[in-house]
Amino acid sequence: MTDRKKGVRRMREKINFNVPPYVEKAAEYIQECVKNQKICGDGPFTKRCSEWFEQRTGTAKCLLTTSCTHATELAALLADIQPGDEVIMPAYTFVSTADAFVLRGAVPVFVDIRPDTMNIDEKLIEAAVTERTKAIVPVHYAGVSCEMDTIMEIAARHDLIVIEDAAQGVMASYKGKALGTIGDFGCYSFHETKNYSMGEGGALLIKDEKNVEDAEIIREKGTNRSKFYRGQIDKYTWINFGSSYLPSDMNAAYLYAQLEIADEINEARLALWRRYYENLKPLAEEGKLELPVVPEGCVHNGHMFYVKAKDIEERTALIDYLKAGNIHSVFHYIPLHTAPAGIKFGRFHGEDRYTTRESERLVRLPMYYGLTLEQVDYICGKVSEFYR
Ligand SMILES: *Cc1c(COP(=O)(O)O)cnc(C)c1O
Repeated sequence: MTDRKKGVRRMREKINFNVPPYVEKAAEYIQECVKNQKICGDGPFTKRCSEWFEQRTGTAKCLLTTSCTHATELAALLADIQPGDEVIMPAYTFVSTADAFVLRGAVPVFVDIRPDTMNIDEKLIEAAVTERTKAIVPVHYAGVSCEMDTIMEIAARHDLIVIEDAAQGVMASYKGKALGTIGDFGCYSFHETKNYSMGEGGALLIKDEKNVEDAEIIREKGTNRSKFYRGQIDKYTWINFGSSYLPSDMNAAYLYAQLEIADEINEARLALWRRYYENLKPLAEEGKLELPVVPEGCVHNGHMFYVKAKDIEERTALIDYLKAGNIHSVFHYIPLHTAPAGIKFGRFHGEDRYTTRESERLVRLPMYYGLTLEQVDYICGKVSEFYR
């Protein structure tokens, strides 16, 4: 077979929407855990990962957790969220953003999004504040930051806690500050579909030293075992409510292999993102589809590449067309206020001008570390063909 034919053949192989990152060192590091018989939580790899994030982001403390969902639960406990409290968040987000607060008996108050970034519209937040409001949870969609200056100002004025859902925001920043470090707490995800992965996992970033000890205690079943391990006390005991939010060190070993080459992974994702953008710009200029917007001051991380079709019918047709070309594209987030649990537990404040309309138009194209620029060209070719 000639090279050209091989190339064509490769192009026709299925292009998955997501493939977890493959990093050679991961297997070696996991083996190290197995050989050294150190597999439980807070082992050497967990420590390396936490320190890496502390150095990289400048946060006071990074605690690895079993998921971003659990990091958010931990933040809700630290924020002392009580039944009947209200928590402001976008309706266009993953269920975990709301779940962590619903578990505490709080009411998620959904606010409309901005159509350009798909993030919570900061201009609509203040009108949703009541005397029961306890926290604001901005979600940095696609690793593009919310308008954090405005959000932090509103929080300061009303004495509210800010918990950033930065599940998609690892290695992204807002005006030079790492996402997850701007609010009181920041939550990262290392799920298989995120930029850096440990299968299932996450992290809680804590801005203020004064919250660190409580966080360590709640994360360790309500005990002061973290202090005991550091040799600061000679026995540990049960001193508060808590749960178990520690991942196994084997998972941390898998993650650490990626952190060692985090810049390379980030740059590769950004190169794919830029290729999508350049290839599809002509279609956007013709008004056929819309491309993502990255506002001034936001440095994103190539977490996601999406396009917006005219409406839900056109989106369905585009997904089907790509599928026929062996390309797996997806849409997501049925707005939470329209889901059974959202109706039961939450409410929407104001008017749903953009949340439903924009979510119905959005398609996510394949994006992962290891996807090639040639594959992106092929995908963009198919998108262009669809619109011709
Ligand atoms: C992935 C994701 C989560 C949940 O992350 P897990 O680690 O799977 O719990 C929460 N919020 C957003 C915005 C996400 O994208």
